[in-house]
Amino acid sequence: HAGDGQPGTEFLRLDLRPPGQALAGRAQIQAQKFGARLAISRMVKGLDCSGHPYRLLLEDARAVAARAVVVASGARYRKLDLPDYERFEGQGIHYAATAIEARLCPGEEVIVVGGGNSAGQAAMFLSRVAQRVHMLVRAEGLAATMSDYLVQRIASTAAISLRPRSAITALGGTGLLEEVTWFDGPSEHSVTRPVRNVFVMIGAEPNTAWLEDCLALDGKGFVVTGRAADGTPLADTFASSLPGVYAVGDVRSGSTKRVASAVGEGSVVVQSIHRYLGGP
Ligand SMILES: Cc1cc2nc3c(=O)[nH]c(=O)nc-3n(C[C@H](O)[C@H](O)[C@H](O)COP(=O)(O)OP(=O)(O)OC[C@H]3O[C@@H](n4cnc5c(N)ncnc54)[C@H](O)[C@@H]3O)c2cc1C
Repeated sequence: HAGDGQPGTEFLRLDLRPPGQALAGRAQIQAQKFGARLAISRMVKGLDCSGHPYRLLLEDARAVAARAVVVASGARYRKLDLPDYERFEGQGIHYAATAIEARLCPGEEVIVVGGGNSAGQAAMFLSRVAQRVHMLVRAEGLAATMSDYLVQRIASTAAISLRPRSAITALGGTGLLEEVTWFDGPSEHSVTRPVRNVFVMIGAEPNTAWLEDCLALDGKGFVVTGRAADGTPLADTFASSLPGVYAVGDVRSGSTKRVASAVGEGSVVVQSIHRYLGGP
């Protein structure tokens, strides 16, 4: 993990010839040759699905008609409100606990913030490598927010220390994160520990407000795919409940929140669109 604060930092750093921007420029020219019209940096304010083709309403009050739409508007990870927080994103603050992040943690003290199932799974996973996992939750406990089986597994895992009524108050380090201070509920004291990796698992908010009530969203607002409005399975994994509208990447309910999977889903969905539009 190169840890430069940019998403996708574990990707191989290739010495690209031409560099990325030029490559993207060429791809743009090629797409235009095929008749694509690009409207980069236009926010979509709304989707009018009252007729077909659909109409995408742009922030500059213009509209674009489309027979098929791919929703790839991503999600915003909830962050902690702390001084210097942004400086430590990618330098010790993580939003996912995969094998990649786990490699940073052998023998370390780490913190998982959050009391939901994803926080619980992260704590269990990290407890296999970390010396200690401090699990900080604002509530009295986990029962109201986490599945029973996970609550029990956490309680019986010696390497996990559950800290209810606790919250981080300060982050320290000159470049990378080096230490973390938190208010510790059980002892009612401020605690500072040499923690270099903090996993913030307090949820993500999908960028789906612009979809209005056009298609099915899950309880957290992510786009449901692979199921029609009445719940029957659809042949296309990335099809939403609204015919001709697809969702890929972070915005899709149940997707793996990683760059590689988002890119992969984006390439796979093209076939579905071809089929939908009656292409070869
Ligand atoms: C700090 C951080 C570090 C991360 N590190 C890694 C990592 O090391 N490795 C990894 O694999 N993943 C990492 N991730 C996750 C990774 O960034 C995402 O999984 C990936 O970017 C998802 O791609 P996406 O295209 O679905 O969404 P995004 O990359 O979020 O792209 C969505 C785009 O849609 C735009 N948009 C949103 N709403 C609208 C609208 N209404 N109109 C027009 N445009 C809109 C947004 O501005 C954005 O440009 C990290 C995420 C964060 C926040």
